[in-house]
Amino acid sequence: MARRRHIATGCRTCSGRGYMISTENDQYARAQLCGCVSECADCGGSGTVFLENERGYRYLERCGTCGVVRLKVRRYNNAKIPSKFAGVLQSDDIDPRGQSQLDAMTYVKSFVDKYPEEKGFLLMGGPGLAKTRLAVGAIAELTLQKAVECVFTDFFFLLGDLREAYSAGIPENEIIGPLINAEILVIDEMGKGRSSEWEQNILDQLISKRYNSSKKTLVTTNYVARDSLPKKSRNNTEVLEDRVGERIASRLYEMCAPLFIEGSDYRKGD
Ligand SMILES: [Zn+2]
Ligand SMILES: [Zn+2]
Repeated sequence: MARRRHIATGCRTCSGRGYMISTENDQYARAQLCGCVSECADCGGSGTVFLENERGYRYLERCGTCGVVRLKVRRYNNAKIPSKFAGVLQSDDIDPRGQSQLDAMTYVKSFVDKYPEEKGFLLMGGPGLAKTRLAVGAIAELTLQKAVECVFTDFFFLLGDLREAYSAGIPENEIIGPLINAEILVIDEMGKGRSSEWEQNILDQLISKRYNSSKKTLVTTNYVARDSLPKKSRNNTEVLEDRVGERIASRLYEMCAPLFIEGSDYRKGD
C-alpha cells in the first residue's frame, strides 16, 4: 500500500494546493504544478513509484504523494477552459442578482458537491448573466477537486473547427468523438449560429449519443424553453426549440435540470 499523506502542506507558493492557475493570455486556462510537487522526493518527480507485493514482485503505481495532484492538473489543462475564465471556480463569490440566479448557483454547487448524483444542467437566460461562468466554475472544481474528465466547447467555435476540418480532409469524428466521449461536456452558447440543418445534425449527434450513454452535459444558451414563457408571448419569441429543433430540445429537458436565470446584464453594471 502506498503511503498517503498530504503533499505541499505548508508550501507558501501554492498554499498547499500543489498547483497554480496561470493567468497568462494563452488560448486556454492552464494549471501548473508547483515545485513542491514536481520535485516530489518520494518518486523523484516522475509521478510513479515501484511498490512490492507480499511475494516480492515489484510493480509500478501512481505516486501516493503527488500522483493525484498531477492527474487533477492534467484534467484541468485538458478541459479547454477559455483563458478569460482562468482561475474561475464554482466556490467563487458571485453576488446573485435575484432569486433565479441564486437558485441556479445553488443547483450548480450541489451538482459539484454530490457529483455524480445530480443531473447535468441547462442554463437559460439573456446574455451577461454569468451562465458560462457558472458552467466553467463547475468543471474547474470537478477537475481540480475530483479529477473528473471534463471538456468545454463553445458551440459556435465548434462549428468553425468542423468547417476547417472538412477543408483539411480531417474526419469529423476526430473533432466530435472526444466531445461525445468526455465524462462531462459543457456546450456553451447553444443555439447560436444559423441553425441550419447541418448545425442541427451536429448537435443531434452530440446530444443523442451522450443521452444514450447517460453522460452528463452542461449547457448554456441565450434562448429559453417554450414552456418557461407566458402563453401570450410564445408565438412572437424565438425559443430554444426553434433554434435546435424539438427533438434535441426534448432530450435536453430530460438530461438536464432546467435553470432559467432572469435579470439584467452583469457586464453593464449598475
Ligand atoms: Zn507548492
Ligand atoms: Zn511523487
